[in-house]
Amino acid sequence: MPEGHSVHRLARQFGDVFAGERLAVSSPQGRFAQGAALLDGHTLVGSVAHGKHLFLEFGHGLLLHVHLGLYGAWDFGGDDTFRGASSIGAPRKVGEREVYDDGDAAGPAAYVGPPAPVGAVRVRLAGVHGWADLRGATTCEAITDVEAAAVLARLGPDPLRNLSGDRDAFTATVAGKRTPLAALLMDQKVIAGVGNVYRAELLFRQRLNPWLPGAELSPDAARRLWDDTAAMMSDGVRDGRIITTTPQYWNGAGAGEARGVLPAPEEAHFVYRRHGLDCRDCGTPVALTELGARKLYWCPACQQA
Ligand SMILES: [Zn+2]
Repeated sequence: MPEGHSVHRLARQFGDVFAGERLAVSSPQGRFAQGAALLDGHTLVGSVAHGKHLFLEFGHGLLLHVHLGLYGAWDFGGDDTFRGASSIGAPRKVGEREVYDDGDAAGPAAYVGPPAPVGAVRVRLAGVHGWADLRGATTCEAITDVEAAAVLARLGPDPLRNLSGDRDAFTATVAGKRTPLAALLMDQKVIAGVGNVYRAELLFRQRLNPWLPGAELSPDAARRLWDDTAAMMSDGVRDGRIITTTPQYWNGAGAGEARGVLPAPEEAHFVYRRHGLDCRDCGTPVALTELGARKLYWCPACQQA
């Protein structure tokens, strides 16, 4: 499932390629036909992500609310002006695909409109220069701003928005729970946007025992956890990948201290999917266990606190 950084990248992408444009909105598959009719022909005025939820705001006050869930993904395509900042150098990511027609040696192909939809396209947005297709999402609905506020009210603070008071709210919530930290980080009502990869990596980076009850985490440690989450996920928005290791852990081809160089995939994480391999810091085999029906990776030696 895409974690919050992917959804924030999508929000930026929509702003870059469609903001201010009157969009044709349709549901080629038909399941979202009524909702699409409510949005069709209106101008996109904003795109916001909160946690794993995407909200596209239209000029007449309605919003398209999308949660990709496990299988949802957007495809983007269009002419050579239809590229968002977030797509540079990162054309294919979880939940985010781009299928540009770059034409042939004679030059880019002229954009004549979106191709015939392939498969179960729940919603298609089409502008002058390009289109976006959504497939497989858990949630796709046209809602009012009051309904959007109700969705947000059910979610915890998003470290990628990091609004005033968010860190204190997170710290207070954690302090009031006996739930293990590993479960709290996955609870979208406690902190919105963290998924299984960031969960494992952040607990390792902060040297926290996954089973420590929230109430036993000191306020200082909770604030450090929030700040590290915000920093790591912001890097994820920039890089289009989850990278939690630092350059001194990178030995692979092209790795190093140079600006813009990123690690090989197998060097990007401390513990996630590294069970049985040596901990990068202490050499103890990384452990794998189940917590809340999700796989949890951690170092039993580094994460005792
Ligand atoms: Zn270790």
